Amino acid sequence: MTNIRIKSNPMGTIAENLAHIRAALPETVTLVAVSKFHPAEAVREAYDAGQRIFGESRPQEMVAKYETLPRDIEWHMIGHLQTNKVKYIVPFVSLIHSVDSWRLAEAIDREAAKAGRVIDVLLEVHIAREETKFGWDTSELEHFLQDGSLTGLRNIRIRGLMGMASLTEDTAQVKREFARLHSVFTSFKERYLPQIDTLSMGMSGDYPTAIREGATMIRVGSSIFGDRK
Ligand SMILES: *Cc1c(COP(=O)(O)O)cnc(C)c1O
Repeated sequence: MTNIRIKSNPMGTIAENLAHIRAALPETVTLVAVSKFHPAEAVREAYDAGQRIFGESRPQEMVAKYETLPRDIEWHMIGHLQTNKVKYIVPFVSLIHSVDSWRLAEAIDREAAKAGRVIDVLLEVHIAREETKFGWDTSELEHFLQDGSLTGLRNIRIRGLMGMASLTEDTAQVKREFARLHSVFTSFKERYLPQIDTLSMGMSGDYPTAIREGATMIRVGSSIFGDRK
C-alpha cells in the first residue's frame, strides 16, 4: 500500500485524515469521501482505511473508477449532471445528490426504468449567494412537489435534499444558508415527502457548521485527499 502524502495541506496520510474526520463525526452523519480528480490509488487507500462511500462529479471518471475498484463501494454523483450522461452511471450509482431540474429527474427516471432500477436521489436546492451554483429555487421545486410530478416518477426515490453554501469566510452567512436548507427540508418532509431522511450539506471548509445545522451527510474532498489539480 502506498501512502499518498497530502502536499499543500499540513496534514497526514489519507488514512490519518479519514480517522481525524471520523473521530469528530456524530453517528447520525454519513461521510462521503469526494475523490474527484484524484487517482484510483487514492480511492484504494481510503478504501483500505475502511471508507466505502465515494463522491465523484464527472460520469466518465466515476465509471473508470467503478470498473477498477472493489464492487462494495457505493458511488455517489455529486456534480452537475447532463441528461445525456445519465445512462453511463445508472447501472451502478447508489445516490445522485445533484438533481437540479425537472428535465434531469425525468432523464434519470427513464434510464433507471430501462435498467430495471429504482435510483435514490437528492434534490439540489440553491442556497448560496453566488449565481453560478446549480440547484432549484425553493418555490420552483415546491411547484413540482405540489402538483405531484416529481413524486410520480416511479424509478427514482427521493431521499432528501442537497445544498452548497456560499464560498465565503463569513461563517454567519454560511450558517444562515445551512439553517435555511434545514428548514426547507423539515417543511417539505411535513408537507410532501414524509419518507426523506437525508440532508447532504457541508464540505471541507464548512462541514462542522453544516453538522450543527442538521446535516445527515457531508461531502468532504480536500480535507481527506489534499488539493485537486
Ligand atoms: C468538490 C465537491 C465537494 C468537496 O469539496 P472539498 O472542498 O474538497 O471538500 C463537495 N460537494 C460538491 C458538490 C463538490 O463538487
